[in-house]
Amino acid sequence: MKTHVKALVVGGGVVGTSIAYHLARAGWDDVMLLERDELTSGSTWHAAGLLPYFNMSFATTHIHDYSIKFYKTLEEETGLNAGFSVVGNLRMAQSKARMDEYMLYASTAETCGVPYEWMTPAQVKDRWPLVRTDDLEGAIFHPTDGYINPADVTMAMAKGARQRGVVIERRWQVDGYRWAGSEWIVTCTKMVERGGNLVPSEEQIEITAEHVVTATGNHAQRTARLLGIKIPAIPVEHQFIVTEPDPALVEYRKTHGEHPVLRDADAKWYVREERGGWILGPYEEGAPARFEYGVPDSFRADLFPLDLERIEEEYLSMIHRIPSSETVGLKDDFNGPICYTPDGNPLIGPAPGLRNMWLAEGFSFGITAAGGAGKYLADLMVEGEAEIDMASLDPKRFGSWMTTEYAARKNEEAYDHVYVLHHPDEERPAARPLRTSPAYDRQKAAGAQFGHVNGWERPNYFAPLEFSDHDARSFRRGGWWQYAVKEAKAMREGVGMIDASAFTKHVVKGAGATAFLDWFTCNKLPRVGRINLTYALTSHGTVRTEYTIVREAEDIYHLISAGAWTSYDSDYLRKAVEDKEAEFGRIEVQNTTTQTGVFALAGPRSRDLLKKLVNDADPEAFFMNKNFPWLSAKPIELKMCPVMAIRVAYTGELGWELHHPVEMQNYLYDLLMAAGEEFGLKLVGARAQNWLRQEKSYRAFGTELGRDATPQEAGLDRFIDLEKDFYGKDAMLKTGIRSQCVTLLIEGPEDADPWGREVLYAGDVRVGRLTSGGYSVAFGKSIGMGYVKPEHAEVGNKLKVKMFDQLWDAEIVEDSPYDPSNATIRQNG
Ligand SMILES: Cc1cc2nc3c(=O)[nH]c(=O)nc-3n(C[C@H](O)[C@H](O)[C@H](O)COP(=O)(O)OP(=O)(O)OC[C@H]3O[C@@H](n4cnc5c(N)ncnc54)[C@H](O)[C@@H]3O)c2cc1C
Repeated sequence: MKTHVKALVVGGGVVGTSIAYHLARAGWDDVMLLERDELTSGSTWHAAGLLPYFNMSFATTHIHDYSIKFYKTLEEETGLNAGFSVVGNLRMAQSKARMDEYMLYASTAETCGVPYEWMTPAQVKDRWPLVRTDDLEGAIFHPTDGYINPADVTMAMAKGARQRGVVIERRWQVDGYRWAGSEWIVTCTKMVERGGNLVPSEEQIEITAEHVVTATGNHAQRTARLLGIKIPAIPVEHQFIVTEPDPALVEYRKTHGEHPVLRDADAKWYVREERGGWILGPYEEGAPARFEYGVPDSFRADLFPLDLERIEEEYLSMIHRIPSSETVGLKDDFNGPICYTPDGNPLIGPAPGLRNMWLAEGFSFGITAAGGAGKYLADLMVEGEAEIDMASLDPKRFGSWMTTEYAARKNEEAYDHVYVLHHPDEERPAARPLRTSPAYDRQKAAGAQFGHVNGWERPNYFAPLEFSDHDARSFRRGGWWQYAVKEAKAMREGVGMIDASAFTKHVVKGAGATAFLDWFTCNKLPRVGRINLTYALTSHGTVRTEYTIVREAEDIYHLISAGAWTSYDSDYLRKAVEDKEAEFGRIEVQNTTTQTGVFALAGPRSRDLLKKLVNDADPEAFFMNKNFPWLSAKPIELKMCPVMAIRVAYTGELGWELHHPVEMQNYLYDLLMAAGEEFGLKLVGARAQNWLRQEKSYRAFGTELGRDATPQEAGLDRFIDLEKDFYGKDAMLKTGIRSQCVTLLIEGPEDADPWGREVLYAGDVRVGRLTSGGYSVAFGKSIGMGYVKPEHAEVGNKLKVKMFDQLWDAEIVEDSPYDPSNATIRQNG
């Protein structure tokens, strides 16, 4: 057996096999896959094999799209039939809100070129008469997907991998990982059968590997322990049942083709044909998490007992939808572990804190995702980046605060939410509140409706105490919209305060700090006491992180970045420092995220408010432009609270961010609220902030900014210093402009704004997509930001946005349509 390889893939389910295949296909000729049991013996063997296109994320849509197209090519390449039944997929809607959801999805799907058709209830009935349609609003049909045999597709990929030189070894379990500076030393144990169990033998070997990928499915918790990291992938029970042949179906099939995969989302199930009968797969409430602390040796290709009571409601609703199924008996059942993560998306990418260690864990739609996950992870490993931004799937989107209990409860919730209405303004309740800033209770008492960002509670908006956020959600303007409008106006006309404590904060200091940051980021470094907006790039010249850099002293810098990405940013920064310290000199990195709270105070009256509180001989002059210019920072005292005040506002108003010791937050909060009364100080949430920043064309990380666009494509040339050398510069220049970030004012429907996922057209040609959307109080209409092909990016160009299956007028406007000269930000006083 080989004991040295370039890449070792651990786990021979559908995911690991696809990764091994794609690594070989991407050109790595020394790849080995180890499986502790048999290929497919994890969750893969008992999957129903459905390959749904439907999901609400841009990155995942690309992944699923790749899989569906790739699986169709496997037979030609390997001679093995992957068992792909392209029967299509019919998703039914029982309500108008569900149709709204499908229309939002469809607009996202179009951005990736995924084909779909709309069907009326009558058309469904006409084509599939066994389906009851009298209580339906409509349906969306995907003609090109369907279902596949999970074992067959895995075996076809395994054959393809072997043909490309991959070595696949079964009955070897990985039991230890040790990083030896430039490669991993992986301890592997030969597994043997004893009394039906699979147990470790005495035989052990060590394999050295430059790169390791773990794709260990339900064993992710064990993998996490072996690696000394946290992986929030814990399985939940998922069952499906198979009926005896349904005579009506058998009769129908004599003259008709197979039914598409049927989904009644409002009833929480999928159904497909199986040998004249039906398979029903419900996503019911109450499915428990399993194997929180590891999979017992006795559990191999095993199943849990069926819990029919738990899925009774879904079973009855299948009978309602397909009345002929009422009289057919049950033939078989499957209740297996299905891996989940707290947000339902897999964990694909570099492991936190480790080198050359890649995770591919937590797949709940693993059969669907495996092809694309294998391809894009292989791209990341071989090329350094994938063509889509993989950040939303990155394992580091969950921080070190994450616990087993959190993961288990959130994973149960993610399972239970598979078929809820996926409102873009949805906030899920499990495991909350967990991470709260001290002023949480005060804000809650003031009517805050909180969102959940990286575990933090962050106010989305403020409403009367009796207001129900849950009941107010919508695909159009939700009940909260009116409150966000008031908050946005207050910020533009008076003064507002946003709790931005969740911001990620790092201090970088030491003799090597300046040279390091000069290389690490693309803008000029600020002078002492000043701040700059800047970007750390990827090796491909695209945006890895956006930072506000505050230079406190010659070699002390504060780096402030998005709150949702603390571990993701920390990991990249620390690894870059480790790599460069020898070259640049000593560099110290501290993550101060949870030590420092932030209130963002902004609006034309913000200066008046602060003047009342600052300790200074001349408070009247303290915040004047000559003493405290825009884009500068200084330590100040607001009565008894020491504050690092930064003159910048993400809302584009005159304003200051007040970074304060978190233990003094309540003191500062009370102080500001009391002093703010005479100026009409209003608490403002993240939703209004998101609208306001679009009026200023401020790009947001995770939407306009990510690893699929360079800062030049994002239109950020003024923050790039081409005179200096910085990481990713050459690649950025070489890439050029593939698409261009633009701001659009939109004449949308009266009751809705775009969400930032919609497709853009010029005439009937698809030219781009929105990445952000919302409402502009300054212009009284919808606003959005997005990317279009360069030839369509000119200011004044008239485009169309697809919302609710209709095209709406949109015009590309100059960046910063509100206050383009920044007069209000620079206002003196
Ligand atoms: C009832 C049911 C129905 C489902 N239906 C669908 C569906 O219709 N469509 C869909 O897309 N998905 C479906 N799924 C989900 C799907 O089964 C999984 O997402 C997918 O199989 C995950 O594949 P994987 O390769 O990540 O994990 P697994 O298939 O579990 O593979 C992991 C492998 O790693 C091996 N391993 C673990 N630790 C080690 C180690 N230390 N050393 C060596 N080997 C190790 C294991 O033995 C295992 O073979 C269903 C799941 C269930 C339970």
